[in-house]
Amino acid sequence: GRRSTGDVPALVERARQGDPRSVARLISLVEDASPLLREVMAGLVAHAGHAQVVGITGPPGVGKSTSTSALVGVLRRQGRRVGVLAVDPSSPFSGGALLGDRVRMQEHALDPGVYIRSMASRGHLGGLSWATPQALRVLDAAGCDVVLVETVGVGQSEVEVAAMADTTLVLLAPGMGDGIQAAKAGILEVGDVFVVNKSDRDGAAQVRRELRSVVALSERAAGAWTPPIVMTSADRGEGVEEVAAAIGSHHEHLVASGELERRRRRRARDEIENLALTTLRQQWRGVHEHAALDDLADEVVHGRSDPYAAADRLLASLEAPR
Ligand code: GDP
Repeated sequence: GRRSTGDVPALVERARQGDPRSVARLISLVEDASPLLREVMAGLVAHAGHAQVVGITGPPGVGKSTSTSALVGVLRRQGRRVGVLAVDPSSPFSGGALLGDRVRMQEHALDPGVYIRSMASRGHLGGLSWATPQALRVLDAAGCDVVLVETVGVGQSEVEVAAMADTTLVLLAPGMGDGIQAAKAGILEVGDVFVVNKSDRDGAAQVRRELRSVVALSERAAGAWTPPIVMTSADRGEGVEEVAAAIGSHHEHLVASGELERRRRRRARDEIENLALTTLRQQWRGVHEHAALDDLADEVVHGRSDPYAAADRLLASLEAPR
């Protein structure tokens, strides 16, 4: 945009003080892959690392939106600042267009202790994996104690979201047409806390029984976390305090066991690798048209160079200028 780079430190400072418009502006810079992004991230990094990131996954209609909103209510009553990132991997819309439909969130829309943001993932920039961690860092640095990341669309994004979270809630419900056998194996593996929502409905006890045997059968190292199973009726707020308590217990376990540090290090590795590969790919795009490539091809064809040596020289010529 038209803003000078001098605005960034002031923007970061206002976001840290909790100004919602500055937070929104920073997340927009992330979404737009703004040239200011490097400066934004450099300004934020020292202030991030406090928030517990909680992923909320489960099949469409299970009650993710209802549960997220109810959970925000419980966390707010505990005096915690909460961020909500609704990620829709399939939607071209972002920045609130989608949340207009997420009516249940509106009870929190005017609460200054809650930041709610929807994000579309931009496929061409690497989707979820690219922008979400950076938006999380914005909310984290802005002083959120907990950030809830909810997937809105369908797809294999659930596992991707779990990879970004400290704690992953997996929601299931009775009467969704598919027993938990039909739930993707992946989704059960990533659960730190299982929630059987719509427990007011027939079949909830059966879902719990099936989940219990899944948890009992899964292999865990000694001292590892055993995922609890919490029954809820999110639309009546029932069981939601237990979910909040389970999230708190999991956090304590992560800290005490050193697992939080390990998960975060793994994520930082992935993020660095993704950014480096994106840069390499951008540099590489020019190679096909690179004049040197024609010259090198000539040398190989006429026996003046072998392909390995030519490739080395091509790489060396790419590294020199940036
Ligand atoms: P999402 O697609 O996973 O975000 O699901 P929603 O939160 O939009 O909920 C889907 C539907 O289930 C809505 O009509 C909710 O009102 C309803 N719902 C949510 N929680 C419960 C519950 O605990 N019991 C019952 N009976 N319905 C619920």
